[in-house]
Amino acid sequence: MSAKIIDGKAISANVKEQVKAEVERDKLDIGLAVVIVGDDPASRVYVNNKKKACEFCGIKSYEYALPAETSEEQLLELVDTLNADKKVNGILVQLPLPDHINEKKIIERISRDKDVDAFHESNVGRIMIGNFAFLPCTPAGCMELIHSTGIDVSGKNCVVIGRSNIVGKPMAMLLLHENGTVTICHSKTKNLAEVCAAADILVAAVGRANFVTADMVKEGAVVIDVGINRLENGKLCGDVKFDEVSEKAGYITPVPGGVGPMTIAMLMRNTVTAWRIQNEK
Ligand code: NDP
Repeated sequence: MSAKIIDGKAISANVKEQVKAEVERDKLDIGLAVVIVGDDPASRVYVNNKKKACEFCGIKSYEYALPAETSEEQLLELVDTLNADKKVNGILVQLPLPDHINEKKIIERISRDKDVDAFHESNVGRIMIGNFAFLPCTPAGCMELIHSTGIDVSGKNCVVIGRSNIVGKPMAMLLLHENGTVTICHSKTKNLAEVCAAADILVAAVGRANFVTADMVKEGAVVIDVGINRLENGKLCGDVKFDEVSEKAGYITPVPGGVGPMTIAMLMRNTVTAWRIQNEK
């Protein structure tokens, strides 16, 4: 059996079209501030892609590119300024930040109504209890990809590999909210291959190239590959060994062209939500 490829590029383009149409229809004047500190090349690429998506959707983007030596105090001051700025509806601080800046402190300073990444503790807590305004972008993108298969999550055996605060844990929560039976695996999990092989829906968010092999995948499973790993030859690859797993899975996301573009599309959706929270309460 050969898996159907879940086309994240096409699905994300559709989400962005919907956002653009909504912005045009309601004549929304929306602004997203994107803050980048230092010159990490991967972060630069992500920021540029986010700016391009804003342009497409008719959302104004305000970029703040700060030098690596920026102090924590200066960054906090910028966040305060953006929190107070009515033109700015969403604030995104590109991670990782340089080591001398406490990421947690910066994220907690962002107004929770402008926290379009949904990283603020209060938004994380709201995801936990199911009363959320913003969905965390990457897990929300994964859910859209799963929905695109037409498979109902309810009652399915779902396995998430990875328990980070930005991907693994919120991913597990979203699957649970849709009544999946969810197992979270991590570096201490015993019999990982066996646990994964029982999954109807398998989400890999490990950060290790080709980690998920065909023996870890159930015949016909939905496999969502969140991983972005750069190989020595400069090519990008996911956490899933695509060639062999695609022979066994029912549906699979490619890397690139799977989860990555969805993350940005969901950010656009969250930015519109932020505008509505700030203007319609
Ligand atoms: P983290 O490094 O924060 O988390 C990785 C998780 O994988 C940890 O929970 C870790 O377990 C687990 N893990 C590591 N090694 C093993 C192992 N041998 N067996 C089982 N579990 C293991 O990464 P992120 O969650 O931030 O990101 C994961 C991947 O997703 C990365 O490749 C990242 O680049 C990518 N990513 C992609 C995005 C996109 O838009 N497509 C967005 C965000 C991330 P433990 O907790 O025990 O250490």
